Amino acid sequence: MDLGISGKRALVSASSKGLGLGCARALAEAGCRLVMNARGEEALEASAAAIRADFGVEVETVACDVTTEEGRAKLLAAAGQVEILVTNAGGPPPGMWKDWSREDFIKALDANMLTPIALMQAALPGMMERRWGKVVNITSQSVKSPIAVLGLSNSARAGLTGFVAGTARQVAEYGVNINNLLPGIHATDRANSLDRAVCEKEGISMEEARAKRASTIPANRYGTPEEFGQTCAFLCSQYAGYLVGQNILLDGGSLNYTLA
Ligand code: NAP
Repeated sequence: MDLGISGKRALVSASSKGLGLGCARALAEAGCRLVMNARGEEALEASAAAIRADFGVEVETVACDVTTEEGRAKLLAAAGQVEILVTNAGGPPPGMWKDWSREDFIKALDANMLTPIALMQAALPGMMERRWGKVVNITSQSVKSPIAVLGLSNSARAGLTGFVAGTARQVAEYGVNINNLLPGIHATDRANSLDRAVCEKEGISMEEARAKRASTIPANRYGTPEEFGQTCAFLCSQYAGYLVGQNILLDGGSLNYTLA
């Protein structure tokens, strides 16, 4: 299927691994020219090289922490004018509601609310001027249904979701679409680290922790970065022009409701 975005310049932050990498690879497969980012240079260069080899597209890399002002400035300067923006960053650590300090909240808000907002504020004016743009923010299923141990994520991503709900409707008439993709459990390093915390707490093996969690998902498995990335590429495609300010849940049926 031709997504109609071949040659478009796409910035995907936090994309050397996991869901960000899944999005970068799917956009490259659709013919996009990429700007990729992560803090660790080695994995970033390896993922970029694999994408160049697999899809023959241009890939620029910027190794920096996207949650800092300096990092974002470096990334945005290298990216220049982008037509597609996928925002992502690492998720906050698990914990208990009574233990989080102001500093913990500021860190989570910086990473999972203020960073995507800053990236959008930088990219949207050019997109609006050129009357074409797609933004996908990687958030979490915790936006629709809180995950108790991820209260920092629940809080920060709710703030981002509110910003997107209002802003998406202000930029839609300029041919710019902003939507959020909400992952449920996907097989990435992040899921491994959450499973490891369960292993330690409950004294069970990784396999047991994974099987236990998978059994709570109607699909009875974790999602893959590939299927997540292809959904992202569709949201960035010529066919998603009428999709405005939506929160698309990819969770294998985990959240049990009729309508949301
Ligand atoms: P992951 O496998 O741990 O990958 C995270 C990627 O982001 C890596 O490339 C990492 O590279 C990069 N990164 C992390 N912090 C960064 C920073 N400050 N600046 C630049 N790059 C950074 O994580 P994931 O599973 O793909 O998760 C992506 C997002 O989705 C997270 O916010 C996570 O909380 C959320 N999420 C994931 C799941 C899931 O089941 N996987 C479910 C719900 C929500 P470096 O470490 O080298 O920087």
